[in-house]
Amino acid sequence: MERLDHVPYVNHFSHPHPLYLSNAESLQMTSCYACKLQPHGWMYSCKTCSFTLHISCTQMPNLITHPSHLIHPLTLFAAPPYPGGSFKCDGCGLQGTGFSYRCTTCDFDVHMICATNPMSLAHQSHPHQLNLVFYPPYQTKGFSCHICDHKIGSNHWLYRCGSCEFDAHMECAKSANNRPSPHLQHSNSSPAPNNVNLHQYLQQQKKQRRQQQKGAEEAAAPAAGGAAAAAEGAAAAAAAAAEGAAPAAEGAATAAEAAEGAAAAK
Ligand SMILES: [Zn+2]
Ligand SMILES: [Zn+2]
Ligand SMILES: [Zn+2]
Ligand SMILES: [Zn+2]
Ligand SMILES: [Zn+2]
Ligand SMILES: [Zn+2]
Repeated sequence: MERLDHVPYVNHFSHPHPLYLSNAESLQMTSCYACKLQPHGWMYSCKTCSFTLHISCTQMPNLITHPSHLIHPLTLFAAPPYPGGSFKCDGCGLQGTGFSYRCTTCDFDVHMICATNPMSLAHQSHPHQLNLVFYPPYQTKGFSCHICDHKIGSNHWLYRCGSCEFDAHMECAKSANNRPSPHLQHSNSSPAPNNVNLHQYLQQQKKQRRQQQKGAEEAAAPAAGGAAAAAEGAAAAAAAAAEGAAPAAEGAATAAEAAEGAAAAK
């Protein structure tokens, strides 16, 4: 990513001071405030506080519709509105302190990063595409992860091949082992760069969203957040839905690249 592609500073709602374009190597910070992943490439950073954001993390939509909570739009929060300053993610079940998407009506909170998990991906430990599922389909509400072999007792999102009853933690399914299965071809025949990461994945999503903008605008009902925000949210949902419906090879390859990169970025 070239420096000239980006404005020299931004005012972001999450921070009271302007954030300046800075190279990750020149920064002391060890994580992005929003996603908690390592800084890389160009970042937006405060000159006086230790506050830094990935460029893509400054560009997350304020309002999304997520397939896990279709009844209400989710709003981006820079800080959890709870005493103690953390929230429990309804996606992965872990505590969170960075950016989150939240339904204020239902007290439903998910890590911003969990909300961007691909709807499907491939993992080398299983020959079929794994789909993101929001409830373990068992009476116990728990499942055993076939990748790390650990049981998990509660009601979290998971990646699953339904026909084989193959279940995996989100983190395990996105782990460094992750490679597209041999029969799944990359849609782009050029070798995938090593540093494909979540942020590039988000860029791809954005591109997809733009392509689907027209359809989404027709689908978007006027919502409290305003027509523009609603269109954006609906576009995200449309992109997510389209991703789920995309042919296995293409969807899985894209998702696998993203997961590979996300793991590498840790
Ligand atoms: Zn980030
Ligand atoms: Zn500051
Ligand atoms: Zn989470
Ligand atoms: Zn809700
Ligand atoms: Zn696991
Ligand atoms: Zn399977």
